[in-house]
Amino acid sequence: MNVLLHICCGPCSIAPIQQLREQGHQLQGYFFNPNIHPYKEFKRRLDTLQEYVAAIELPLMVDQRYLLEEFLQRAMQTGCDRCEQCYEMRFLQTAIAAKEQGCEAFSTTLLVSPYQKHELIRQVGERVAEQTGLHFLYEDFRPGWKAAVEISRQREMYRQAYCGCIFSEKERYCKAK
Ligand code: SF4
Repeated sequence: MNVLLHICCGPCSIAPIQQLREQGHQLQGYFFNPNIHPYKEFKRRLDTLQEYVAAIELPLMVDQRYLLEEFLQRAMQTGCDRCEQCYEMRFLQTAIAAKEQGCEAFSTTLLVSPYQKHELIRQVGERVAEQTGLHFLYEDFRPGWKAAVEISRQREMYRQAYCGCIFSEKERYCKAK
C-alpha cells in the first residue's frame, strides 16, 4: 500500500520504517507534532528526524506549524483525556495529508513506544480512518523498540526525556513532595 507514516521523532521512527519497508509498503513520512513543547525541543526533534530520513532516503513531508495555543486549548478541555485529544489532532491532519498525497493508508510511529497508550492510539487511529475513508495501518511495533534504542544510540541521535507536551515535561521533572 501507499502509506503516509506519521512520525513523532527520529528514534521512534527507526523500527516502524524498517518493518513497513520489509513488508513492501511504499512509505512516506509526515511530521506534524504541535504537542512538542517548548519550541526549542520541537526544533531539536525535527532536526534529528530530518538528518535521519536523509540518511535512509525516506521522503518526508514536514508541517512546520507550531500550534501551541490550539493544542493547549484542546488539552485543557474539561473532562477530556489530553492524550486522546493529542492523538486525534495529529491523526486527523495526517489523514488529510494522506488523502492529498493519494495514499490509501496512514500509520504512526507512536505505536512503537512502550510509554504510549497503545490501545488508545489504535482506537483513535481507526476512528479517524473511518471518518476520512482511509485505512489505518495498525502494527504493534513495540517488539522492535529495544533494538531501535540501540541503533539510535550508535547513531548518536538526540533522544528526548519526556513525551512532548508541557504537561509531560512537568510529570517528568517536577516530582511532588
Ligand atoms: S503526554 Fe504525550 S501523548 Fe499525552 S498529550 Fe502530552 S504529548 Fe500528547
